[in-house]
Amino acid sequence: MSLDDVRTDTCAAYGCPLLGSFGVGGKWFCVCHFRANAAVNDAITAELNRHRGVVDALLLARRTGAGYADIKALEDELIGHTHEIGRQQSIPTAGVVGPTHAEPAFTETDA
Ligand SMILES: [Zn+2]
Repeated sequence: MSLDDVRTDTCAAYGCPLLGSFGVGGKWFCVCHFRANAAVNDAITAELNRHRGVVDALLLARRTGAGYADIKALEDELIGHTHEIGRQQSIPTAGVVGPTHAEPAFTETDA
């Protein structure tokens, strides 16, 4: 069985490559999906696939019984890549460099 086969121990979010670690409503979710709004599940999965090297290292660490510190460091890295997804960001209102006034309009008859 390859890692690409459908497994019962993976995260319940569609297409997520990580293992389910947190039970929510009868399903198991990974560390990146378990608190996320379901509307951003696909965006989180896409970001996890962009960092496939870290994901593979984490899967290997979990399956080979690596130490807690090693697993947590890899999980923290993936959380860092995904925790901003789906959150509104405020637009800065101070310290923005740009025009402070509009140039006066010139009519074509002035020339
Ligand atoms: Zn997941």
